[in-house]
Amino acid sequence: MIEQDDNFSLRPIKFENFIGQEKIKKNLKIYIEAAKNRNESLDHILLFGSPGLGKTTLAKIIANEMNYKIHIINGASIEKQGDIASILASINPGEILFIDEIHRLSKTIEEILYHAMEDFKLISLSKNNNEVSPINIQLPPFTLIGATTNIGAISTPLKSRFSIIEKINFYETNELKKIIMNASYILKTTINDDAAKMIAIRSRGTPRTAINLFKRARDFANANNSLIITKKIVETTFANIKLNKLGLYDSDIEYLKTLASRFHYKPVGLKTISHAMGEDIKNIEEIYEPYLLRINFIDKTPRGRTLTDKGIEFLKTQNIKDND
Ligand code: ADP
Repeated sequence: MIEQDDNFSLRPIKFENFIGQEKIKKNLKIYIEAAKNRNESLDHILLFGSPGLGKTTLAKIIANEMNYKIHIINGASIEKQGDIASILASINPGEILFIDEIHRLSKTIEEILYHAMEDFKLISLSKNNNEVSPINIQLPPFTLIGATTNIGAISTPLKSRFSIIEKINFYETNELKKIIMNASYILKTTINDDAAKMIAIRSRGTPRTAINLFKRARDFANANNSLIITKKIVETTFANIKLNKLGLYDSDIEYLKTLASRFHYKPVGLKTISHAMGEDIKNIEEIYEPYLLRINFIDKTPRGRTLTDKGIEFLKTQNIKDND
């Protein structure tokens, strides 16, 4: 069964429809089965990997397979002790708490989570009428699923509270093609085999990108009164959204040019790049860099980001001058 999420995406709600990540699916199915047989809550799970690889989808599938409600929150939106305390207090036995971007939680909130994860206890200091009083409440057993794009930013004490840690990998072209074919089936727009492959190749190993590119191609097809996405339509789409053969957008090329021309190929720190490009650090770390690292165009060194020989070769094809 696939849930159709109106304004956003097509999200599988069963393992069978979740393409790829075979080892992770196999492991998770075993843990789920074992927890069900023991009649216990599932152990806490940490999922890490780049944006759009399916962490939220997997968390929802796990909840669905366990047959329990999932509470979804974002680490960045939990600021006060009271925020996390009221969420924890609202969880019923066996339910799942999914915290996306868990690396963005503050130290104080993390500490509340340690107790909740380990002993199912809610221990915090609450402020009532300006008086500080400690809370100590027994919580029902529940499962925390944390997701992060930045495993390095998770503190060791928090990480050690997760007994299951899984890395979500980038997808192969044939897996992305299957995801595109599924989208085409659900959205009732036929796509030719070679056209689907073309989109898969430029999807940067990421299902979210594959689905978004498929939707753009569908727009171009529909605008031409066509219900079939052909290779030609995909080519037109890529030309219009300026996506090159390697799956690079103008903004990625801008990043590479910044390293080359502004900093004369020397290692550059993240903050400096962000400042020079006028781009958010988060976007640089989560959108530009993972793919550029993967295709071996840049390197992360202790002294900063550098272009690799392959990156430099590519820039030569883009007519980069030293003071461009
Ligand atoms: P993340 O939480 O890692 O950022 P999501 O779970 O939101 O990623 O996935 C992004 C989109 O890609 C969703 O629409 C989801 O349905 C789709 N998707 C991700 N992984 C898969 C997969 N393995 N099979 C099918 N669709 C997937």
